[in-house]
Amino acid sequence: MKAIRLREGKERSLLRRHPWVFEGSIAKGRADAGETVRVEAHDGRFLAWGAYSPASAIRVRAWSFDEAERIDAAFFARRIAAALALRARLGIDSDAQRLVHGEADGLPGLVVDRYAEALSAQFLFAGSERWKALIADALLQATGLSRLYERSDVGVRKLEGLAPATGWLRGGGDTRFTIREHGWQLQVDVAQGHKTGYYLDQRDSRQAFARWVRRLGSAEVLNCYSYTGGFSLAALAGGAQRVVSVDSSAPALAQATEHVRLNGFDAARHEAVDADVNAYLREQLQRGRSFDAIVLDPPKFAASAAQAERAARAYKDINRLALLLLRPGGLLLTFSCSGGIGPELFQKIVAGAAMDAGVDAAIVERLAAAPDHPATLFFPEGEYLKGLALLRAG
Ligand code: SAH
Repeated sequence: MKAIRLREGKERSLLRRHPWVFEGSIAKGRADAGETVRVEAHDGRFLAWGAYSPASAIRVRAWSFDEAERIDAAFFARRIAAALALRARLGIDSDAQRLVHGEADGLPGLVVDRYAEALSAQFLFAGSERWKALIADALLQATGLSRLYERSDVGVRKLEGLAPATGWLRGGGDTRFTIREHGWQLQVDVAQGHKTGYYLDQRDSRQAFARWVRRLGSAEVLNCYSYTGGFSLAALAGGAQRVVSVDSSAPALAQATEHVRLNGFDAARHEAVDADVNAYLREQLQRGRSFDAIVLDPPKFAASAAQAERAARAYKDINRLALLLLRPGGLLLTFSCSGGIGPELFQKIVAGAAMDAGVDAAIVERLAAAPDHPATLFFPEGEYLKGLALLRAG
């Protein structure tokens, strides 16, 4: 077993069970891509078993902090069983769930979502890549399913020196599945959809939105960055008279329109607009339009803390525009999924937007990723999604 020796003082984060070892922390030692290594403190003390990633700034990710544990097929089977056991206790009323959420489930660089009868997975670093075949078999064994689609077409793989990889890893056939969420039906294509197919992390926030629309009696709703219309269905289910879905992806909007039909809502209550959200918001302001409830669920504006400043300006801008478009007494549901922007900073950005808009609003609910995307105490980076429900002063 190869050993990776850390510089003095660099053992602290592993001792706090944070699973990443950065390139600059390593004094000596190297290994092949994905190879299991023993990570040691400067004095040779055992810290963790991990996987080496020669091309990445995150040079090692820890599999285990237990010296007695072996990294083998049984290890992956145990971790997957633990991840499934957690989900079983969450009581999620949907046949689409995140089963493995990477570091939070002790399986760094592995994301696995279930969509009805199939799994869709991302292998995001050299370690999970190396064990891919074994992990695929263990996942099917543990779930009793027979089909697993790979969606390792993610930018971060480049940082690991890995090429994109997509396609059926196990099983085959149609890549489209109909899933159930809060009594709504949604069509997910694991080959064409974003990420592994759908944004499961917003499941609870979509339900929260349906509740707010019902509670406030919101008549006209604007869903920005709608993707396939999850929040639009929520608004319709909550009783909205009219919902506008705005996205820059034509296929996503076509699916949103189809979702309205599939769920038995009157097509006349929904409008799909293919546009850049920022431009759309400005145009609506110029036209003097306003809405009773608005959702802002943009893509990741900041991939890292370094990009936070530019991203902050972009968040502030759309939030300012949305607050200006909101009728007095209206609700804004605003999100950020940028890991580099923490909940406090996000709140400050939104406060700045309200200040610039000259609008007063109260935070009436705080939102986060659904619990099948758990955040762990030891890995704060895993907590990427935050949202605020704001009620504009009447
Ligand atoms: N709210 C959705 C998920 C949104 S993901 C849900 O609950 O499922 C972000 C969406 O923003 C994607 O669908 C992407 O196509 C869209 N998008 C990205 N940049 C955009 C832009 N500038 N204008 C409009 N839509 C954009």
